[in-house]
Amino acid sequence: MLDADFFHRWMAATAASVDREAERLTALDSPIGDADHGSNLQRGFTAVSAALEEEAPATPGAVLVLAGRRLISTVGGASGPLYGTLLRRTGKALGDAAEVSEEQLAQALREGVDAVMQLGGAAPGDKTMIDALVPAVDALGDGFGAARTAAEQGALATTPLQARKGRASYLGERSIGHQDPGATSSALLVAGLAEAAGE
Ligand code: ADP
Ligand code: MG
Ligand code: MG
Repeated sequence: MLDADFFHRWMAATAASVDREAERLTALDSPIGDADHGSNLQRGFTAVSAALEEEAPATPGAVLVLAGRRLISTVGGASGPLYGTLLRRTGKALGDAAEVSEEQLAQALREGVDAVMQLGGAAPGDKTMIDALVPAVDALGDGFGAARTAAEQGALATTPLQARKGRASYLGERSIGHQDPGATSSALLVAGLAEAAGE
C-alpha cells in the first residue's frame, strides 16, 4: 500500500529532477516553443515543495490536490493548467484514504490523464505530454519501473512527430525532428514515481 509519505517522496523526487533538468527542458522548448518550459516547471515544483512542507497534507489525495493547485497558480503557459489538472484530478480520484493500492493509483492516474486530454484536446500522436503519460499509465500494471521506461520511450518517440497541439503546432512541419519538452518533463514525473517506490 502507498501512504502519504510515498506521495511526498514522489513530489520531492520530481522537484529535484526538474531542478536538475531545467536547462535541458528549456533548451528543448527553444526550437519548437518559447524557451520557458524548464523555468516554468522549476518555479512550479519549487512552490509545490514549499506548500507540501508548510501544510504537510496527511493523505495521498490531499498531497496531489495541493500540488496540482500550486502548479496551476504558479506555472504560466500551457503546462501549468495541464499538469495541475493531472495531479488535482488524480488526487480527487484517490479520495481521502490514508493508503491506496498500486491498482487504485493506476486507475486514478488514468482519470487524471483523461482530464488532461479533455482540457487540452490532445490525443496520442499529437506530440505533447500525452505521448509520455498514456504509455506510462498503460504500463503501470507491470510496475513503476515499466511505467518509467514507457514514458521515456514515449518522450523519445515524439521527435519524428509533427505537433498538432500547443505552441509547437504553429511551426507545422518544422516541428518535426525535435523532442517535445512536455513529454520529456512527463517522463521525469513518472520517473519520480519509480524513485519514490525505490526502483
Ligand atoms: P507554453 O507553450 O505556454 O510556453 P510550456 O513551455 O511550459 O508552455 O509547455 C509546453 C508543453 O506543454 C509542450 O511541450 C506540450 O507537451 C505541452 N502542451 C501544450 N499544449 C498542450 C495540449 N493542448 N495538450 C497537452 N499538452 C500540451
Ligand atoms: Mg514554453
Ligand atoms: Mg510560455
